[in-house]
Amino acid sequence: MEKNFFLSDGTKSSIDKIVSKIHRDIDYQNSVIDLSEVRELLRLDLKYYSSENDSYLSEVIHKFYVGGQRVLENPALLKDVVTKMSLKALFLPDRRRIMLDASLHKSKHRWNESHEIIHSVLPWHDSLMYGDHIGTLSKGCNIQLEAEANYGGGELLFPRKTFLEVVSSFELSMTAARKISSQMGNSLTSTVWRIVESCDQVLLGIIGPHPQYLHLAPEKEPIRYLIRSKAALNTFGTLSSEALISAMQSYCAHKTRGPLGDGVCVLADDLGADHLFRFDSFSNTHEVLTLAVHLGERSKSVVVASDVEVAV
Ligand SMILES: [Zn+2]
Repeated sequence: MEKNFFLSDGTKSSIDKIVSKIHRDIDYQNSVIDLSEVRELLRLDLKYYSSENDSYLSEVIHKFYVGGQRVLENPALLKDVVTKMSLKALFLPDRRRIMLDASLHKSKHRWNESHEIIHSVLPWHDSLMYGDHIGTLSKGCNIQLEAEANYGGGELLFPRKTFLEVVSSFELSMTAARKISSQMGNSLTSTVWRIVESCDQVLLGIIGPHPQYLHLAPEKEPIRYLIRSKAALNTFGTLSSEALISAMQSYCAHKTRGPLGDGVCVLADDLGADHLFRFDSFSNTHEVLTLAVHLGERSKSVVVASDVEVAV
């Protein structure tokens, strides 16, 4: 189970300033971010490549960084590197070009493009040639430069002021996350990450296979990511995947698409005290996304809607 981590406040503030300037320069007005406007502003070019059409990849490259490491000492054909390392997105600084793998699901293109745009604008990323695979494009990646590109990508696609205003108009749940995702034009997965990492309250986001069908794929991690808000990190630093799975199995429907239901579940904090959380899950058919909102300590009085069964 991978867990999120937070960049230092200094790094975040440096990235925030650069991204805010982009928002100002494109005259952002609370709508969906149009990445083609951002590319035009930054004079970036976008190309898609695929195994069938690799004409854009047939060039010799000299320096190439993947996951913050220089991977090439000698010139090599870009298409060979892309294939060998399963790269899904690239930034080529001398061409001012972003390249995306056309075979990836379209919902991932926007996130990947945003990640590469951030590589191109952070001055300390130093105009290096970046290649990204699924691991470095994941918001859970904790390699410093990649985590910075992911953080900046989130800032770019979910402008903070607008995002927090939109979030505050909802009671947090997966239904709300789906509405926010469509309102801001971003994928549901990136929206859940952003909600959990941006909100002040104790919140958990859980991404992984369907909790009722874990026995069908025992080789998979039962939870792929556990995302904790800053407030949750301090109190729930030691949550186990067994506790989270057991909570989700108590209410999740066995269907494989759409809302899987919700339930109030108990999780112990780092000192062993029981807390109530409202869990809510949604299956996008590939994975199950869950938001868990803290309601309070179990020993204290907690207001729970009368139609919700408290699983204690
Ligand atoms: Zn990257």
